[in-house]
Amino acid sequence: MLQSTLDRTAVLAPNYRPLDVVIESADDCWVTDVDGKKYLDCLAGYSALNFGHNNPVLNKAVIDQLHKVTLVSRAFDHDQMLPFARELTELTGTEMMLPMNTGAEAVESAIKAARKWGYDVKGVAPEQANIIVAENSFHGRTTTIVSFSTDADAKDGYGPYTPGFRVVPYGDIEAVKEAIDDNTVALLFEPIQGESGVVLPPDSFLPALRELCDETNVLMILDEIQSGLGRTGHTLAQDYSGIRADLTTLGKALGGGVLPVSAVVGRRDVLQVMTPGTHGSTFGGNPLACALGRAVITILAEGEIQQRAAHLGSIMEERLKKIENDGHLADTRCRGLWAGIDVEPRLGLTGRQLCERLAERGMLCKDTHGSTIRLAPPLTISEEDLNYAMDILESVLNEQAASIGVD
Ligand SMILES: *Cc1c(COP(=O)(O)O)cnc(C)c1O
Repeated sequence: MLQSTLDRTAVLAPNYRPLDVVIESADDCWVTDVDGKKYLDCLAGYSALNFGHNNPVLNKAVIDQLHKVTLVSRAFDHDQMLPFARELTELTGTEMMLPMNTGAEAVESAIKAARKWGYDVKGVAPEQANIIVAENSFHGRTTTIVSFSTDADAKDGYGPYTPGFRVVPYGDIEAVKEAIDDNTVALLFEPIQGESGVVLPPDSFLPALRELCDETNVLMILDEIQSGLGRTGHTLAQDYSGIRADLTTLGKALGGGVLPVSAVVGRRDVLQVMTPGTHGSTFGGNPLACALGRAVITILAEGEIQQRAAHLGSIMEERLKKIENDGHLADTRCRGLWAGIDVEPRLGLTGRQLCERLAERGMLCKDTHGSTIRLAPPLTISEEDLNYAMDILESVLNEQAASIGVD
C-alpha cells in the first residue's frame, strides 16, 4: 500500500511516524486512501477539522476570496481584516485580537504580549519576567515553547533554552500560588490538556486561577488552540467554567482545516502594548485567512454546532463508559465530542497498536502516549457514524481481550 519505506526515509525528515495509510481525498468525516478504502476520521486534524473535510461553507468563502485578493501583507489594510477582528472578538466575548498563522505563533505572541505588558504596565524590572506553565502541557514546537516542555522527546537536543518559565503540576492551585512572585507576568495553561490525553483539571481550577490572577495582577492566558471553537460543546472550553481569560490563543479550527489561521484574543489594555514595529507576520491576517476565519465564525455564531458537540459527546461518553465497565478501558475522560481513553493495561495493547487495528477496520485515530488515545471526530459526524466508530472500537478491544483470555 505504502510507497517503500526507503523512499520515505530518503527524502522526508523522519519527525513523524504515521499510520500505514496514504490519503487521497476526503469528504466530511470520511477519508479515502489511494486504494479507494474509506476510513472514518476520528482525529479530525487534531481538531482543526471540527467542521469536517471539504466543508461547503468554508470552501465557498476560500474560493470566492481566492479570486479577489489573497495577500497584501500588513503594510496595507484590506477589507476582510476589521470585520474578522470584530466578529472574532464578538464571538469570544473579548475586546481585541492579534492575527497570526500557526498555533505556536499565537502562543509566542501571547508570551511576548504578556512580557511586554509586564515591563511597560506592571513595572517588572527588565529581563526579570516569569510565566507559570504546567507539566505535561503542549503549546507548540518553537524553541521558546519547547524550552518549558516537560516532554523529553519534544525538548531534548534543542538547547540552549529560553529562560523565564516556571513549571507546576497541572490543576494544582496551591502550586501555582507558591510559584507566583512579584515578577510573574502571566500563567499559561490549556483549559483541558489535549496532547496529554484530554486531561481535565478539577472543576474549581479555572475559577480559582481567575481569582488568583485578579488578586495578584497576573495575566491569565488560556491556550484554546485545540480545546476551542466548538469541540467541548462550548465556543471556548473556558465557557464551561464561566470565566474569561485575559488572553486566549486560538488556532487549528479557526482555519477549518484549510489554512493555518491563528489569533490571540483578549484584553485591549494588554494587546495594545504591541505597538507598530514591535511584532508582526507577513501572512498573519491575510485576506484569504480572514475570509476563511469569518466563515468559521458564521458556523459557530449559530450555536448549533456546539450543541451538536455536547449531544454527540454524551452518546460517545456513554458508549466509552460501557467499554470501561466491561474492563477494557482503564479510564475515559470526556468533554463535549472529545475523549481521552486509556487502554486497560491487562489487554497488553499499546495506543499505537490499537490505532493500527482500528485503521485496518476503517477508523483513524492517533495515540498520544503509552496506551492513551484521543478521539475527536469532526463535530459534523452523524449519530450513526459515531456509533459505527464506537462499534469498531468496542469490537477491536473485545477481540483483544478474548485472544488473551481476559474477560
Ligand atoms: C496544536 C497545538 C498548538 C500548536 O499549534 P501549531 O499550529 O501546530 O503550531 C499549541 N497549543 C495547543 C494546545 C495545541 O493543541
